[in-house]
Amino acid sequence: MKPSADYNLSCSEARAAIQTRLDEPLTADSETALSRHVAGCAPCADYQGDLGAMRDALRSIPPLKLPAEVREDVRSAARRRDTP
Ligand SMILES: [Zn+2]
Repeated sequence: MKPSADYNLSCSEARAAIQTRLDEPLTADSETALSRHVAGCAPCADYQGDLGAMRDALRSIPPLKLPAEVREDVRSAARRRDTP
């Protein structure tokens, strides 16, 4: 992505930036370009809202605890795969 603050994002670039932002903060320039795009593009604004809601929903799921025998099955399967 080009570092210029007045760089206009395409929709696919905006969506890539929205996805990136879920994992890591954007540079100030990218943030500016993205918010400018989203302000003028309803589909991307919807996309941003949907992804944010999905992330929040995923974060609200408690960590899954596997039964001990399933964990042991996974470990032995992994060992079998590691040994040729
Ligand atoms: Zn767009």
